[in-house]
Formats: sequence, C-alpha cells, structure tokens
Amino acid sequence: MKKKLVSMILATAMVAATLVGCGNSGSSETTAPAAEAPAAEAEAPAAEEPAAEEPAAEAPAAATGNKVGVSMPTKDLQRWNQDGSNMQKELEAAGYEVDLQYASNDPATQVSQIENMINGGCSVLVIAAIEGDSLSTVLEGAKTAGIPVIAYDRLIMNTDAVSYYATFDNYMVGTKQGQYIVDALDLENAAGPFNMEITAGDPGDNNAGYFYQGAIDVLQPYIDAGKIVIPSGQTEFADVATPLWSTETAQSRMENILSSNYADGTQLDICLCSNDSTSLGVQNALAANYTGNYPVVTGQDCDMANVKNMIAGKQSMSIFKDTRTLASQVVKMVGQILNGETVDVNNTTDYDNGTGIIPSFLCEPVFADVNNYKELLIDSGYYTEADLQ
Ligand code: BGC
Repeated sequence: MKKKLVSMILATAMVAATLVGCGNSGSSETTAPAAEAPAAEAEAPAAEEPAAEEPAAEAPAAATGNKVGVSMPTKDLQRWNQDGSNMQKELEAAGYEVDLQYASNDPATQVSQIENMINGGCSVLVIAAIEGDSLSTVLEGAKTAGIPVIAYDRLIMNTDAVSYYATFDNYMVGTKQGQYIVDALDLENAAGPFNMEITAGDPGDNNAGYFYQGAIDVLQPYIDAGKIVIPSGQTEFADVATPLWSTETAQSRMENILSSNYADGTQLDICLCSNDSTSLGVQNALAANYTGNYPVVTGQDCDMANVKNMIAGKQSMSIFKDTRTLASQVVKMVGQILNGETVDVNNTTDYDNGTGIIPSFLCEPVFADVNNYKELLIDSGYYTEADLQ
C-alpha cells in the first residue's frame, strides 16, 4: 500500500496549478432526444473553453444501445445518493435508460451488480468503486463486450478496461483543507505550537491518499517549523486512515487519542479530517471526551448533517463538491462516447491506474464555511433553508 501511495503521490504532485473547473454542461435542460440518437442531443453547449484547449481522447468503439449502468458504492452516505439520483435524472432527461445500483459498501455485491449490468445490455458503465482494486476481473467482461467504462469520482485501479475518469480534483481538496487551517490559525504569523490530529479516509479508496497528501503538503512547512505538533505521533497515512470512511471507526480512534494525549488538559487546536463522515466521528469524540478550547475541524462533501454542525460551530469548514456538476459532466461524456465523438478531458498526465494514464476530467472543489454556505448551498439551490434547520 505504502509503495502504491508513494507513486500515487508523486504522480499528483503537479496537479493543482493547471486545473480548470467543470462548466455546468446544462445537458439536463435539453429536451429528451429520440431514442436512436440520444447522444447528439446530450451534447453540451460550449461552456467549457478551458477544456477545449486540453488534449482530448478518442472514444473507444462502443456497444450500440441506450442503456447506461450506474454503479454507486453505498446509500449510507448522503453524497452517493445525490450522485446517483442526479445522474439518473440527467441521463433519463437525455433519453437513456438507466440501471442504477447501490452496493452497500460491499465489493462482492458491486461486482455482481456490474456483472448484471454487462449481461443486461448496458452500453456504457459509470462506476464509483468501493475498492479501487476489486474490479479487474469483472471489467474484463466489459472490455470483451466492448462496453466503455467511466470511473466516477474514484479511480478504478489495475485494469485497462477503464476508458475515462471524471472526478473533482482530489489533491486540490486536500490543499484547500490545509490552506483553511493555515488561514484560520494565521500560521504565517502565529508562534504556536498548535496541536493537531489527523483523520484520513479509506485506504481502499484511491482518492484518500490524494486528500491526505494535498493537506500535508500545505501543512508540512509548519510542522517542520514546529508550529504544528502531533501529540499522538500518528502522522503516516497508514496510521491515520479510516477503513470505509466509517464515522464509528473515526470516533473510537479519536476517543483513544483524546484519552491518551489530551486527558491532562492539553489543548487540541486542529482536527484535520478528510471528509464529513470521518469528521462527524471526530466531532462526536470531542463532544464526549474533550473539554478544552474547540479546535478547527475540517471536512468534505457539505453533507447536510455537517453543514448543520458548521452553523452550530462544531465543524469549521467543508469542501463543496457540487454533485450536479459532476453528474452533468459524466452525462456529457456518456453522450460523446455513444456518439463516437471526441470526449472532453482536461487532464492527461496525473491519473495512472497502474495500466497507464486514464484521460480525466477534473472539476474544481471549493471550500465552504459559515460565512459563504448560504451563497454556495442555498442560493444555488443545492439545499433549501429548511434542509439545514
Ligand atoms: C469521495 C468523497 C467521500 C468519500 C466517502 C471519496 O471517494 O471523493 O467525497 O466523502 O469517498 O464516501
């Protein structure tokens, strides 16, 4: 794992500077096209000039048909429900039939659902993998059947059956979390030292290492300067990872850290948490086991429960990844593939899945906190005021 992570980290080192955000393709607003030619109508308007300058990839020969398989990891986390239903809505509006499945965070279930999609005549597969490494065998079947695969949000590793990858810039998610901490504590000027604990994501999810490394790259100079210290001594990705992004696992790990290192009144200043589900666990542990000054607490996804906690002062920030934008982009890519058109990508250097670079489209994440959440989340129609009460 470590070796893989290191090569992955090296591969991402240059991601941040050159990225462009997803334009909103607007494809959901096009009228439903005739069944024989859905892709032509699903083609997006020209909202994406930056992408046009990037290298584009040729669409592989696709099976002909109108059915798209969408495989999502779990219904347990709010974001995947949104991703799945946004995609279903947009694909259906563009005239496709959709086979949408959630796999209860169980890799074997995901494999069998994908098998059924292949056998059930899907022409393109859109997959958010539970474990990046578990799909090689089943995707051999997709390749043999000429079914292109788009890796959704999480890269699928070690199979040449993956045609494209669409995601938010994972490394940038981490750098934004790190930068938020730098700004919140004025680390440039403050002497510190500030105590920090790190909670990262699932080691089976290729994204988790990017989030961790993006944040650490921003914070490392302050760690080296002694302005940030980590009393638990748990700093390596393998030490701070949270299998399956579990809230309960993150909570019990943080409870142990608090009782071993902070029970004597030591202040905890920073909880770097890679996403909202792990952040919730950390917040639960803080509520139960910590009475000092409340730390800066990060997250990712802007899940409703976490935005409510942000408003209540229990979480400092989250990363907003507008799942509508990613869904629109993927629907556009599906249309381009099925129509044999050139598929828009904006990154052909950074995401190697072990068999080579996968042409990728990276959307830009933004940070959300108590000062800008209304504009980002309510004014844009992502949530209503009532959702957040
Ligand atoms: C996603 C995050 C999400 C996490 C847990 C990652 O792959 O990019 O947005 O919080 O999985 O589901």
